[in-house]
Amino acid sequence: MDYIKGEDSVFQDIQPHRYVNQYLHREPSSDDYIFLYQDGKALLEDIPDGATIPKYHTVHSLYPDCADNLIYLFSIDDHSFFMSFMQVQETANLHYQEIVPLGNLNPPWIAFAGATAYHLADWYDSHRYCGRCSLPMSHKENERAVQCPECGTVEYPKISPVIIVGVVDGDRLLLTKYATGSYRRYALIAGFMEIGETYEDAVRREVMEEVGLRVKNIQYYKSQPWGFSQSVLAGFFAELDGEQMVKIDAHELKEASWYSRENLPRDDTTLSLTWDMIEAFRASPSTARMRLP
Ligand SMILES: [Zn+2]
Repeated sequence: MDYIKGEDSVFQDIQPHRYVNQYLHREPSSDDYIFLYQDGKALLEDIPDGATIPKYHTVHSLYPDCADNLIYLFSIDDHSFFMSFMQVQETANLHYQEIVPLGNLNPPWIAFAGATAYHLADWYDSHRYCGRCSLPMSHKENERAVQCPECGTVEYPKISPVIIVGVVDGDRLLLTKYATGSYRRYALIAGFMEIGETYEDAVRREVMEEVGLRVKNIQYYKSQPWGFSQSVLAGFFAELDGEQMVKIDAHELKEASWYSRENLPRDDTTLSLTWDMIEAFRASPSTARMRLP
């Protein structure tokens, strides 16, 4: 079956804005953005429809020391984003807040910037010291990496691959709900890849672990950067192979059920890859069959 890639934007589709992640040396200018990171939270500025990343002129007027030790992250259009670990006093409309997936940041391209800044900031935060000899790391000049001045260990930004699987049985799609955590919406089978696996191995293993089913005809659909878990998500559709009785892993899931196209729930966002995939399944022709390899 060919799944039609949805025309709705997902999280990372920020066109006409342009994300530029080339590693550069830059000085902040007034309209650039400053991501002050502390213990998994960022200093965000309240705006009428949520929160946003504050600009350099705002941050610098309140905390002149912020100009020291800024780390350049990336640019979107002509705006550069920098981060700092400097801890500052909150004000009436500048608070340390969690970056909630698809939640509190506006406009949408700033939400993407926030997730991406969070991923980088969390990586810098956990790589302040050398894992081999525990001395403070220094920043490499010519690329985004930190290096130990003593033993020479170099660490590059870490991205953990995650697979998401839409398990299909004819006209039905398997939806799940997680047993724990704050995400309460319907989900698809998902999990981190293990070392030594291919994507297809991970798809088969996760489906077997979470719901006790075998799958075949695994087809790649689309990917999504997901800084909240330092990940990139790779979405696949796969066809049920054999037994359709679901045996859920109660540690991971509280629910896993088959939904026909007519009964698939709806959600107010398709910004996540999960919901983009659910909508792609809903829109795919119900009489089509998976193409055999
Ligand atoms: Zn070292």
